[in-house]
Amino acid sequence: MQFRIVTLFPEMVENVARFGVVGRGLDEGLIGLTCISPRRFAGDVHNTVDDRPYGGGPGMVMQYEPLKAAVAEAQSTLQGPATVVCLSPQGRRFDQATARRYAGFDSLVLVAGRYEGIDERFIKAHVDEELSLGDFVLSGGEIAAMAVIDSVARLIPGVLGDKDSATFDSFEDGLLDHPHYTRPETVDGLSVPAALLSGDHARIARWRRAEALGRTHRRRPDLLAGGLSDEDQALLDEWLAAQEE
Ligand code: SAM
Repeated sequence: MQFRIVTLFPEMVENVARFGVVGRGLDEGLIGLTCISPRRFAGDVHNTVDDRPYGGGPGMVMQYEPLKAAVAEAQSTLQGPATVVCLSPQGRRFDQATARRYAGFDSLVLVAGRYEGIDERFIKAHVDEELSLGDFVLSGGEIAAMAVIDSVARLIPGVLGDKDSATFDSFEDGLLDHPHYTRPETVDGLSVPAALLSGDHARIARWRRAEALGRTHRRRPDLLAGGLSDEDQALLDEWLAAQEE
């Protein structure tokens, strides 16, 4: 999968992308990532890409034309038109289902805003989707773009070392992940739950499912609004009863 990021800070994105799962995906050629700066398409010697807002007010606004040219350049390096996503606190909330959808694409163009934001006409004319990381305001879209790239890349076959890693992640099956433990078996008087030491795979799977159901019920009941299967409901009831003991 090919990512193109339109950003005033290419080095910021490129440096973050060198590490971890994304870095490995790049090294192994499973994903590609290129940054395009709108400054390359600025119309003056000062490489200006922003201007004061019409109507007055604080700050600067990213101009239409350099962004349009940068997106066109991004598209020209891809086979077929790619979906253009603009990172914005006003966009739809990014989630695992969206990451899964994007992981099925051949390419994605991500536009990172700066300053007060982007000329609205560019968003109307050249952006397919606006995405938000959440109800808070970042100084720029680069960290949000990297969050999208990271979560999408790990869903692309071969990028994760263990193909099952993503399958059990939070949200993949509508639940939060179960808790994890590693050695030592006891630390500061705290021990690992007995089921995980039993060597009984069915018991371990049942324990993990019950924990995932229990934590989702406690922490994110909204995720269970669609209802549970009879089997999961029984497991959750058992988990809740055990908590009360
Ligand atoms: N004035 C804008 C507003 O209130 O909607 C905020 C502009 S913000 C300082 C600059 C850029 O950061 C935005 O254009 C966007 O690309 C990015 N950004 C800020 N918060 C974000 C969020 N929650 N999710 C995604 N991108 C965000």
